[in-house]
Amino acid sequence: MERKITKEEFELQYVEGNLKLLAELKKRGRGAIPCDCGEEFCQGWQMAYSIDWALVAVLYLNAALAMLYRVHPEWWNGSAHKE
Ligand SMILES: [Zn+2]
Repeated sequence: MERKITKEEFELQYVEGNLKLLAELKKRGRGAIPCDCGEEFCQGWQMAYSIDWALVAVLYLNAALAMLYRVHPEWWNGSAHKE
């Protein structure tokens, strides 16, 4: 499919010319990827929503620690949390 505009043009449009915002999005792994949805208004690009793996890792670790604490509270005995 023919792209009506370049990737850079699409990204600029997406952030309405806000280069600072664009830089922030790119830092977070966001960016335009080719789109072939075929919609009349489609410009041949879409903004990718990439997963923030660092955030996922933190959430997963927290959940895992909370579960471990419930299953083996004695593992935390003798730590700084001791009464
Ligand atoms: Zn599309």
